[in-house]
Amino acid sequence: MAELAQAGDFCPNPACSDYERLGGKIIRHGRTRAGVQRFKCLSCGRTFTATLGTIFYRRLTAEAEILECLALLAEGSRISSASCCTASAAPSAP
Ligand SMILES: [Zn+2]
Repeated sequence: MAELAQAGDFCPNPACSDYERLGGKIIRHGRTRAGVQRFKCLSCGRTFTATLGTIFYRRLTAEAEILECLALLAEGSRISSASCCTASAAPSAP
């Protein structure tokens, strides 16, 4: 069974000679403040995170919270009634 390519397996920079090529020179390059793995392409020097190209890219909300909200919406809950979506997004009214 073939394995799926994951973030960090290829360079996402269209101007790079290793663009979308598996087996490129990608190294781990620390983590973001949120703890997301950061990578660096040694061919072009571009850094990118594991969440690039996903709905989680540059989001401050935790992935688990986003997934929970999407699950509630898929089940038919309204956004206004999905308490997880408003718990951290806005401060509570006095
Ligand atoms: Zn590159």
